[in-house]
Amino acid sequence: MIFIKDEAIVLRKSEVGDKDLSITVYTKTLGKENIYVKGAQIIKHPFLPVLQPFNWFKGVLIRYKEKLYIKEIDKSYNLAYNYTKDLDKLKTAIWILETFDKYTLFPDKNMFTFLKKTLYFLSKTNNLENYKLSFVIKYIYLYGIFPMISKCIKCEIDINSSNFAKFSFKKRGSICKKCSKDKKTDLTYNQILDINKLLKKDLKEIDKINIKNPESLINKLTKYLESETSL
Ligand SMILES: [Zn+2]
Repeated sequence: MIFIKDEAIVLRKSEVGDKDLSITVYTKTLGKENIYVKGAQIIKHPFLPVLQPFNWFKGVLIRYKEKLYIKEIDKSYNLAYNYTKDLDKLKTAIWILETFDKYTLFPDKNMFTFLKKTLYFLSKTNNLENYKLSFVIKYIYLYGIFPMISKCIKCEIDINSSNFAKFSFKKRGSICKKCSKDKKTDLTYNQILDINKLLKKDLKEIDKINIKNPESLINKLTKYLESETSL
């Protein structure tokens, strides 16, 4: 039996029979794990309020015969608490949690902190589209698959509005006019500037940045994420 002090964020839960629960969490040191909680569906179970999606908790976990259990919970906080009554924000939070759950495979402390921060600061934003877009951009960056946007992937010259020929998701970056025969591009030069801008800004500072059609960028980047992470 191994005792592990850790922090976790609940990604989803599923009921097992009438009494038990299985939750999927992302923990700071172990990454994504399933935790089985016996009797957790019983109203009086002490862990029940904490085992819902969006909850962050700190406690002691036990690893026993390959399985993970909760020994104790010392502290907990619902990261979505401040916007439980704001349906649009809640929908955005669900999308963030599902996207994170779908693509995150490995333990990564920075990813953990990023998810915690993103869910928490969602309460402060007034621009949900920019927020979603920032999430995907920063997520791709943390994942280590951020494309080379500021330099040409072939000759490494700095890309600017006059030498930019195209951007290719497949080739993971921008290509200058000297290195490309065609101009068939996945992103416009302005979209590249937008991505760069949001990458550099903190999540608390993105509300007033004017992005043209953020939804189209969110879709393109999510597709890129999908293609880069599928095995
Ligand atoms: Zn070039």
